[in-house]
Amino acid sequence: MSNIIELINAAGLTGRGGAAFPSAIKIKAAKENKARLIVNVCDGEIGAAKDGWVVANHLNELLEGVALITSGHAKPIFAAHRDSTTARLLAAAGLKVLEVPHRYVSSEETSLISLAHGGTARPMTKKAPFVFGGQRSDGKRIRPTVVLNAESVWRVSQISRRGVDWFRSYGTDAEPGPRLVAVGGFVSTPSIIEAAAGIPVMDLINLAGGLDPSVRLVGVGGLGGILLTADEARSAIWDTPTMKSYGGGLGPGIITVWDPRQAAAHTAGAMIAYGAGESAGQCGPCMFGLPALSADWNAFAMHPGADTHRRLQNRLTLFERRGACAHPDGVSRFATSALRVLGPELLQSQPYFAGGNQPTEVLSYV
Ligand code: SF4
Repeated sequence: MSNIIELINAAGLTGRGGAAFPSAIKIKAAKENKARLIVNVCDGEIGAAKDGWVVANHLNELLEGVALITSGHAKPIFAAHRDSTTARLLAAAGLKVLEVPHRYVSSEETSLISLAHGGTARPMTKKAPFVFGGQRSDGKRIRPTVVLNAESVWRVSQISRRGVDWFRSYGTDAEPGPRLVAVGGFVSTPSIIEAAAGIPVMDLINLAGGLDPSVRLVGVGGLGGILLTADEARSAIWDTPTMKSYGGGLGPGIITVWDPRQAAAHTAGAMIAYGAGESAGQCGPCMFGLPALSADWNAFAMHPGADTHRRLQNRLTLFERRGACAHPDGVSRFATSALRVLGPELLQSQPYFAGGNQPTEVLSYV
């Protein structure tokens, strides 16, 4: 079996950027349409670091993967954040770098395609995958373009070199192959770990220094991901079925141990506010929905009660697939998860002057 598409298909490689789309389908379409390849090395999610690690440590194999995908018919573009170490490493290697602004949605797939075609780094409405070509909203034609995450491209070269059996010797039948995870936050040794689906979350955290007994929360997947309680993390398996049972997925390979010295409701609120501020301001769910979600979160965190809880819960039902891109879905998924783990204890707390706890009379002390 020498055809690279057949090899990737037999290996069961899926995109390592978070969407987990079958890579063979995407690369086959790219080859058939002679699509321009953009390798995404932005590590755009909060806590992400693995794609820069691939550039720093496996650049030759990454370039080998590029050659296998493009068959040398077009020069690839490497998308990296402006002035980042990764952008400098790529430029020093003589590679074409697409400098991406430091905004959360700038490294989204269609934002990169827009930027590469002279537009702004904002998500575009996708009538069909841009691997077939398309149009910007101003009518400008977009030539066939495909965006692949750097780790995915690196895995293509590994499959070609080491074979399907080697690749499938890692992970589970449903989620085969090695995959990188960035483990950071409140750990002694933040690390990029070569892991695989199906291993305990605690094995990953232990490799980064372990879980301090004071830790209460563990994030999986950044701002588009979920929160687990420390007890849940202690027994969870790092695979899609388990993460799905908590409302998420494997995402782009991020585990963040939350600092127990910080107020979790405030940290979650700051992340939601960041997500609201990072929208490209093009669609209703982002322009109006995310700021309202941020306000509702803050109202609940400061005045936890039945009314603020209900308002927040109702708000969270308004986002599913409503934006041109998945940004509002990601932030609302995170907020839903934060409410799941933090809501009960906030509702049990008795904050002074909150909701129904207003003092009814002033007693004289002197
Ligand atoms: S959903 Fe938000 S981030 Fe996505 S395109 Fe619309 S405004 Fe931009």
